[in-house]
Amino acid sequence: MSSAIINGKEIGQEIRGEVAIRVEALKKQGLTPGLAVILVGENPASKTYVANKQKSCEQIGMYSELIKLPAETTEENLLDQIRTLNEREDIHGILVQLPLPKHINEDEVIATISPEKDVDGFSPVSVGKMMLGQDTYLPCTPYGVMKLLEYSGIEVAGKHAVIVGRSHIVGKPMGQLLLQKDATVTYTHSKTPDLPSFTKQADIIIAAVGRANFITKEHVKEGAVVIDVGINRDENNKLCGDVNFADVDGIASHITPVPGGVGPMTITMLLSNTVQSAENVLARQTT
Ligand code: NDP
Repeated sequence: MSSAIINGKEIGQEIRGEVAIRVEALKKQGLTPGLAVILVGENPASKTYVANKQKSCEQIGMYSELIKLPAETTEENLLDQIRTLNEREDIHGILVQLPLPKHINEDEVIATISPEKDVDGFSPVSVGKMMLGQDTYLPCTPYGVMKLLEYSGIEVAGKHAVIVGRSHIVGKPMGQLLLQKDATVTYTHSKTPDLPSFTKQADIIIAAVGRANFITKEHVKEGAVVIDVGINRDENNKLCGDVNFADVDGIASHITPVPGGVGPMTITMLLSNTVQSAENVLARQTT
């Protein structure tokens, strides 16, 4: 029997519908949520991501603004742009599309975004608050995965989740969010010997490796939930995940496809975080 598909496109649409209603409610109170996206240079993948983010904002009635800077822009100029956006009342979320050119210090850039507008959830303040379980903007991809699990009715508490990958934007925060929902979490990475011996114990596997079709049936226990965060190209230049879908299909109880799994959720949660930021502005005005 085939594994049940966790359809991120459908779940993402459902959540976007809920976010659009919140946007409408804010507009009735005279506030249009606004997202500013800064794009430095001409990286084609980044340009596509940014265009998708803008289109998604517009579809649900939000304001979006693209600030394009040349690849040779100075770090100081970029920081100035962020400081200006930090002050603007019509902008509730600021996103700097990564990666940045080598001469710019990414950590410095992210730390300059006001925590109130850090809708990507990457700044040290946001990460610290997330670790402490305090109210903050959660990083969009792991947050999206949590929503996929929730909307699919998959219980996390008491389950053993094995994360493959420990990046700052996916693997590490993913483990924290699962831990906060009472999963037992194991992190694995490129220095983990005998990876299958760990992943085979997992009730939930999160693959965030960045290697095409890397997770195969030898990694997966019968009945495990497999979440594929990867976005890669295979040898035929076809979009694929970190999980070899055909190999794992029928062994996993549930699986996310690529495309149409985690991908649509990342932008959805970015929209939700930005709307949350605008709602927070109103809440501060009324207290
Ligand atoms: P990184 O390259 O930053 O991290 C990859 C992680 O995988 C590292 O922690 C690395 O370990 C680990 N790894 C590499 N090789 C192995 C191996 N052989 N065995 C076990 N672990 C290994 O990638 P990201 O976290 O940024 O992204 C991961 C994937 O998710 C990519 O395909 C990316 O495109 C995709 N992605 C998708 C998003 C979406 O919206 N769906 C959003 C963000 C990313 P080590 O730390 O030891 O080097």
